[in-house]
Amino acid sequence: MLEKIGTIGAKGKLASVLVLLVILPAMFYSIYEFTTLTRSEALIGDIYRQQLDVVLFSLNQYAWDIANSWTNSINDDLVSHTTSQKALSSLFVRFLDENAGIRCLFLTDRSGTDIEVFYPGIRINPRAQFTTNEIAATLRRQADAVERLFRLQASGYRKIDPIFIKDKAGETSLALVFVSVRRNGTHQVVGMVIDAEGFIRDVLGRKMDEAAGDNFLLSVNRKNSAQIVYATGEMSQGDARQTKDLWLFPDYTIGIRLRGQTIDEVVRARFYRNLVLIGLLNVVLIAGVWVVYRTVRHEMELAQLKSDFVSNVSHEIKTPLALIRMFGETLQLKRVRSEAKKQEYYDTIVQETERLTRLINNILNFSRMEAGKKEYHFEPADLNTIVRDVLKNYSTHLENEGFTVSTRIDGRLPMVDADGGAIAEALLNVIDNSIKYSHQKKHLNISTGRERTTVYVDVEDRGIGIDPLQQKRIFEKFYRVSSGLVQETKGTGLGLTLVKHILDAHKGTVTLRSEMGKGSTFRLSFPIHSNEQT
Ligand code: ADP
Repeated sequence: MLEKIGTIGAKGKLASVLVLLVILPAMFYSIYEFTTLTRSEALIGDIYRQQLDVVLFSLNQYAWDIANSWTNSINDDLVSHTTSQKALSSLFVRFLDENAGIRCLFLTDRSGTDIEVFYPGIRINPRAQFTTNEIAATLRRQADAVERLFRLQASGYRKIDPIFIKDKAGETSLALVFVSVRRNGTHQVVGMVIDAEGFIRDVLGRKMDEAAGDNFLLSVNRKNSAQIVYATGEMSQGDARQTKDLWLFPDYTIGIRLRGQTIDEVVRARFYRNLVLIGLLNVVLIAGVWVVYRTVRHEMELAQLKSDFVSNVSHEIKTPLALIRMFGETLQLKRVRSEAKKQEYYDTIVQETERLTRLINNILNFSRMEAGKKEYHFEPADLNTIVRDVLKNYSTHLENEGFTVSTRIDGRLPMVDADGGAIAEALLNVIDNSIKYSHQKKHLNISTGRERTTVYVDVEDRGIGIDPLQQKRIFEKFYRVSSGLVQETKGTGLGLTLVKHILDAHKGTVTLRSEMGKGSTFRLSFPIHSNEQT
């Protein structure tokens, strides 16, 4: 019992060691990996998003720079050409012709009364023109802002202000307004009305194509409508992963996404791939730990069984030796007077010697079997003869043990290919077990018979029976049922291992039918000798 508890404790320790040494670190590692993975994927996502932001920022900046450069060029013209109003006008018209994104220019004095409007050389739809009244009214509405521009100009800083202005058709457009000082010292308010969609298509569009390259898709959308003004490739509304308002035209947004997979898809795919790898790693690890645990547990059980075996064998040897010695000494001292008593003592000594011999033979056979050195000599044999011989040799012993034996021999059994000695040994082991494990009803029934291509011998007892859960294990080496009545009976746990080995060598089988408390029947079956399989 104590030994059993010892093994259970050791198994528990082994399991905890494996859990502590392998599973726990692996779990911590996985959790750590999982969190760093989530963090690094989020980081990668952020970096991608920042990269997209940078692209959008640079495009916005570009649009702004272009508009700025236009105002600069107009300012330069105004500053350098003061004399001829006509020359200035033709300069402006050429400028408007060259830059498709600008609808018109207007010039006005500080009071906003003298307004001049310039259009490109091509014919302009009259409805797309701006009335001087409308320009004056707009500037009046923005009087504070205009005043500020003058103040800044006075302190040497030229600022550009965006204002919104309506054309004859009532469409609102963006106008960039700034103050310019001509060489003669007159201050002028200059307005540059920009055609948003023309600018986006013709000016910004080219830059967008360049920025998109093979990696991105870019588009500009008009807010509050599903309309895409310009896109660098196949792109539909809502496709963009990142969007920003255009600084120049707050009514429009510019959007970007990766060509092919979106950033989120790329990051998610990477995340799941890594997650699956970690999962697989864990499965392999757990499977490995399970295999190690099972192997070590099996080895530990075997070590325990071996140590039980040694103590069992010692006990098995000690009892008959003590008896032999006791009766031998009694006889030696000539203390026994009656011949009958003497005969009884001699019988006991012979019986105990036979028991010892069987025990030693079993151990020797087992060790030969383990070393793969057990040899069998097969020849045609009659199973009935072997059974009869065993019973004849064993009858006295059975009688002494208080057993009654009934037999049912099938007289027409075909021959088998067998090693007679080995079969007798197997049979003896089975009968010996029946004797050992029948405590109350001491009856044996031995029968032989044929079943299709095999012949068999059944050894049936009315003993303690075998628990169904143990029935497979009792054939394992050193294994003994360690509960209940069996504990009281000593044994080595080798008998049935030998029986199985012998039957395997004969290409036969050993099967068991048993019920707890009712008894067991062991059947040893052998294939019929090839010439007789008819
Ligand atoms: P042992 O030396 O313990 O008898 P065996 O290998 O012959 O070793 O048998 C293994 C175990 O099978 C025994 O310990 C016993 O519990 C069980 N066993 C074998 N034969 C019988 C039987 N006829 N009735 C009940 N239990 C049996």
